[in-house]
Amino acid sequence: MVRRRLVSGNWKMNLDHLQAIHLVQDLGLRLSDGDVVGLDVSVHPPFTDLRSVQSVVEERRIPVFLGAQDCSSEDAGAYTGEVSPVMLARLHVTYVIAGHSERRRLFGETDGVVAAKLRAIVRNGMTPICCVGETAEERDAGTARDRLVTQVSSAVSALVPEQVAGMAIAYEPVWAIGTGSAATPGDAQEACAWVREAVGEVAGAEAADGVRVLYGGSVTPDNTAELVGQPDVDGVLVGGASLEAPSFVGIVRAANGAR
Ligand code: PEP
Repeated sequence: MVRRRLVSGNWKMNLDHLQAIHLVQDLGLRLSDGDVVGLDVSVHPPFTDLRSVQSVVEERRIPVFLGAQDCSSEDAGAYTGEVSPVMLARLHVTYVIAGHSERRRLFGETDGVVAAKLRAIVRNGMTPICCVGETAEERDAGTARDRLVTQVSSAVSALVPEQVAGMAIAYEPVWAIGTGSAATPGDAQEACAWVREAVGEVAGAEAADGVRVLYGGSVTPDNTAELVGQPDVDGVLVGGASLEAPSFVGIVRAANGAR
């Protein structure tokens, strides 16, 4: 099966709503429909920016999907400070990141919590981008594959195979995030193949064939083409380089060209 590529920009806790409007308008000026033929692009602003970004994207028909960086596993109730997936869906959010390594490391999100969030995202008609990845210590100890298999198996077990086939999993080695040291294309391919294999073990061959596996960690316009040129790398999750329109559009074009 031909998997449609996905390029997702995770703005993290950067850009207030006015700065977010400015960035998405700039994306709109630079991105043509031709840039996104054959691939999907999503932007993941902070929650407080979502409504503003949604309005600009819809008014100006900018060819990007709206994404969120996280959500609650609950639809509603006494969960102070949480953001409901129902509310995200009402804002026309399409993609929701779950289990980013910063959430796992800084906010104690376990595989169980991530699994509950994946179910909530799917229950509300949105597409999860589930992040997995090993630390530098795990890589040095030779346990990277075990770590990935554990994270992927837990995530995939939360959903039925058809839902797994429609989701994305981002392989993001923790040591590559925000460091300027991306994985080599060969290492990214090896790990993304492990991810796909783990999906197949739990959810079957069709799910493994359909799931989009992204690479994330210090992606730039210069390294994108080679990364997405790998057979098991179906796109990229971008942090720092998604905060400026020229670099993000450069990544989109590189991902689109490398086929
Ligand atoms: C990320 O945080 O998901 C990420 C990939 O960040 P960066 O591109 O800045 O390494």
